[in-house]
Amino acid sequence: MNFTALVHGPGLPTTGARLPVQLDSYQLQLGLPEGRRLSLPLGELQLSVGGFNDSVWRFEWQDGQGRWSLALEDAALQQQLAAQPPAALATAIAGLRGHQRRHRAVWRLSVGAMLLWFLLPALLLGLLLWNASALTSRLAGLVPVAQEQKLGEAIWKAQQRQLRLIENTEANRAVQTIGERLTAGSRYHYRWFLARDNSINAFAIPGGVVVVHSGLIAAAGSAEELAGVLAHEVQHVEQRHSLRAMAQSLGISAGLGMIFGDLSGIAQMVTGLSQLSYSREAEREADLEGLKALRAARINPAGMPSMFETLQREAGDLQPPALLSSHPATQERIASLRAAIAASGDWPSEPLELDWPAVQASLR
Ligand SMILES: [Zn+2]
Repeated sequence: MNFTALVHGPGLPTTGARLPVQLDSYQLQLGLPEGRRLSLPLGELQLSVGGFNDSVWRFEWQDGQGRWSLALEDAALQQQLAAQPPAALATAIAGLRGHQRRHRAVWRLSVGAMLLWFLLPALLLGLLLWNASALTSRLAGLVPVAQEQKLGEAIWKAQQRQLRLIENTEANRAVQTIGERLTAGSRYHYRWFLARDNSINAFAIPGGVVVVHSGLIAAAGSAEELAGVLAHEVQHVEQRHSLRAMAQSLGISAGLGMIFGDLSGIAQMVTGLSQLSYSREAEREADLEGLKALRAARINPAGMPSMFETLQREAGDLQPPALLSSHPATQERIASLRAAIAASGDWPSEPLELDWPAVQASLR
C-alpha cells in the first residue's frame, strides 16, 4: 500500500515533511529527501490516535538518530488499512478504531449536551413568552404578602399625587367603618381613601389600599350599596386579582421583580390603576367572595346587586360609569348575585349605623 503522510523526525523540518510511504505485510518504507530510504520492521511501530477529535493515527518509532512520527489523517486511508491490516499491525489498528469509535460516541453526546445547554434557555424563553400571561399570574401568586404591601405602598405614593384626596368627612368615616368590618382578620393591612372625582368608581391597589371616588358615594342609594362595592373591591385584593392583573400587564420581568424584591421602576410602570380590568372569572369570584365577606360582617347583602343596578342605569348615558368599564356588571351577573343570596338562606344582619344622607352631604 502506497500513500503520503506527514512525517516528523531527525533531519526533517520542524513542521514536518510530507513523504511517500510504502507499507507492506512486514515493513514500512519511508522515502526521505535526497533519495534516501528508511525501512523498519512493523514490530517496531507504536500506534496511537491523536489530533483534534482523535481523528489522526500516529505511527511512532525510535532509531539511532532519534524519534520519528508519522501522521495518518486521511479517514479513507484509515478505513482501507483497518479493512486489510498487515498481520503484525492488526491488533494495534483494531485498538485505534475502537478508541476512535468510543471517542466519537462521547463527542456526539457532549455536542448533544452542549446544544441542549444553549438551546434550553431559548426553548424556555419561547415557552415563557408563549404562555406569559398564565405564567405571570402564577408568579404573582408567589409574591410574599409583605412584598405585595411594599409594592402597594410604592404604587400608592406614585399615584396619589394625581388624586385630590378628601379627608376627615363623614364619608371618610363611612368608608373606613364599613371597610374595617369587611376586612376583619385579613392578612392585609387595609387603608381607605376618598378621592374628589365625580366618576362613579372605586379601585384597589395590591396590598390593601382602597380608593373610593366621591362620585360613587353620591350615586350609592344607601350605606349597604357602598358596602356591596367595597366587599367586591376588597376581594380583588384578597384574591390578588389586582396583583395578577398588574403582573400580566407589566410582564414577566416585573413579576420576577415582585418576587425577588426589586420594586424599582415597577411602581412607576403602573399607571391607570383605576382602569385595571379583571377577567370574568375574577369578577365572579370577587362577587361571591364579597358576598361571603358581607355575610361574615353581618351586613345586608342586597346592596351589592342594587348598586350594580344603579350602575346599569347610569350606563344608559353616553358615558358609562368608570366602575363598569373595569368591572363589567351585566344583567346576568346581577341575576346570579341575587340567586346566590337567595340560596344562602337565613342572613343574620345588623344595620349599618350610618346616617347616609349626612354622609353624602359631607362631600358637597
Ligand atoms: Zn371587580
